[in-house]
Amino acid sequence: MPPSPMNIADEALLALETLAEKAGGLANPSLRLGVTGLSRAGKTVFISALIHNLLHGGRLPLFEAQRSGRIKSVRLQEQPDDAVPRFQYEDHVRTLVEKRLWPDSTRAISELRLTIEFESASRWNRLVSAGRLSIDIVDYPGEWLLDLPLLEQDYRTFSERTIRLAGAGRRKSLARDWFKIAAKITPGQEADEMVARDLAAAFATYLRACKEDEHSFSALAPGRFLMPGDLEGSPALTFAPLANLPEGKPVKGSLAAMMERRFEAYKSHVVKPFFKEHFARLDRQIVLIDTLQAVNRGPEAVADLENALVDVLGAFRSGSTSILTSWFSRRIDKVLVAATKADHLHHESHDRLEGLTRRIVDRAVERIGRTGAAIDVMALASIRATREATVNRDGEELPVIVGTPIAGETIDGDTFDGKRKTAIFPGDLPEKTDIYFRPAGSVPSMPPLPQINIVRFRPPEVEDAGGGLKLSLPQIRLDRALQFLLGDRLA
Ligand code: GDP
Repeated sequence: MPPSPMNIADEALLALETLAEKAGGLANPSLRLGVTGLSRAGKTVFISALIHNLLHGGRLPLFEAQRSGRIKSVRLQEQPDDAVPRFQYEDHVRTLVEKRLWPDSTRAISELRLTIEFESASRWNRLVSAGRLSIDIVDYPGEWLLDLPLLEQDYRTFSERTIRLAGAGRRKSLARDWFKIAAKITPGQEADEMVARDLAAAFATYLRACKEDEHSFSALAPGRFLMPGDLEGSPALTFAPLANLPEGKPVKGSLAAMMERRFEAYKSHVVKPFFKEHFARLDRQIVLIDTLQAVNRGPEAVADLENALVDVLGAFRSGSTSILTSWFSRRIDKVLVAATKADHLHHESHDRLEGLTRRIVDRAVERIGRTGAAIDVMALASIRATREATVNRDGEELPVIVGTPIAGETIDGDTFDGKRKTAIFPGDLPEKTDIYFRPAGSVPSMPPLPQINIVRFRPPEVEDAGGGLKLSLPQIRLDRALQFLLGDRLA
C-alpha cells in the first residue's frame, strides 16, 4: 500500500486554517492568484506587466472596473507570508522600462500583494462590500506541479515507473550515461555519499536532457531536479531511482535504504509543504504556455505540450482518489490557460493562436476528466514588443510586425545590434489546425507546416506621458485576462 499522502490531522489543520482565512477575509477581502507555467513561458513578464498596468492606470478597455473608472487606487503592500521571497517587481520593471531588457525568469516561488480600492458597480454591492481587494500574486515554477503524483507513490513504485519510462522510445538514448553509472551499482551495497551524488547527478542530467532535447515534459518528476529553487545540492535532492530493489524493507545502511529515506524526505520536506502551504491556498490560477514555440517545432512538440498540460491541469482535478487533490480543487474556481507572446504574430492570427491553444487544452482536459474549476483559454502578449504595419511587395500588401531585435539576433544572415529596428513578415497560422495533430512523422500527403518567424525583440520603448511619468507597458488582451481572473471580485 502506498503511504497516505496527507494524514487526518493535516487535513483538519488545513480546514481550520482555511476557516480562519475566510473569517479574516470578510474584514480584509483577499484573493490568491497563482501564476505558473513551464520555464520561459512568460511568468515574470506577465506579473510585471499586470502590476505595471494596474499601478499606472494602463489602457485596459476590456477590464471593466478600470474602463468604467471605478478603481480608486492601487498600491503595493506588504505581503502576508514573511517566509516567501518577494516578487522583485521594481527590479524587473526597471530592467524592462529603463534598460529595455527582459528580466530574469522565475527560478522559485515568490509573492507580492497588490491592494485595490474600488467602488462597487451596484448599489447593493456598495452596501455589503468593503470596496477593497488585496490580491496576493504567487509566482511559482510549473515544474513543481509535476511532483503531485509522487505523494501517492512509494520509493519502489517511483523507481520502477521512472526506470521503465527511461528505457523506452526516444528517452533511452538520453538515459544512456545514467544507466551506465547505475549498472555498476546494486541496491544492497553500502550507502556512500559519493555514489549517491554521482547517480543523482546523472539522473538529473537525464531529466534535463528529456526536457531540452526532446521537448517532452510529461512524467519528468521530481520537478525540483529541473527547477531546484534554493535546494540545489541538498540531500533531499541527492537521490535517484534504483533498479532491482529486493522485496521488503531495504537493509539498514544500504544504498537502497539511503535513497528511500531521501525520496521520503523529498516528499515530506519539499513536495508536501509546497502543496499544503502554497498551492492549496490559491483561489485562482493562470497557466502560461508557449504555444507558438511548440507549433513551430511541429506535431510532436504540440503533443508534448498537451502531455505537459495533462500533468499541470491534472493538479486542479477534483473528485480524484487523493484527499489532497480534492482539497485544492474545492478552492480554485477559475483557471486561465494563456498562450503568451502573441505579439510575435500579426493580429489576424491572434484568434487562430487562441483556437489552436483551446484545442490543445480541450484534448488535455478530456484526458484528465473533470477538472472542477472553470477553464478559459486566451492568447495574449503581456508586453507588446512589436507594432504592426503593412509593406508593399510586388504589388501585394503584406502584414508585417516591426520591432528592435535583441543584440546578436540574426535574420537571414543579418546580425542585429540591439538598436536597429526591422520589419518582418511573421507568417500566418493556418485556419485549419489538423496538421498539428497528425501522428509523428507520418502522412506524407499532408501539406508542409507553415513556419512562423519568431524573432526575439527587445521590450518596447515606453512613451513619456509628460512630467517625467511613463505610460504603462503596451499589451495584447492582458485586459481580457484580468477581467476573467479578477472582474467578478471587483464588481
Ligand atoms: P518565466 O520563466 O516563465 O518567468 O519566463 P519570463 O517571463 O522570464 O519570459 C521568458 C522570455 O520570454 C522573456 O525573456 C522574453 O524574451 C519572452 N517573453 C515573455 N513574455 C513576452 C511577451 O509578452 N512578448 C514578447 N515579445 N516576449 C515575451
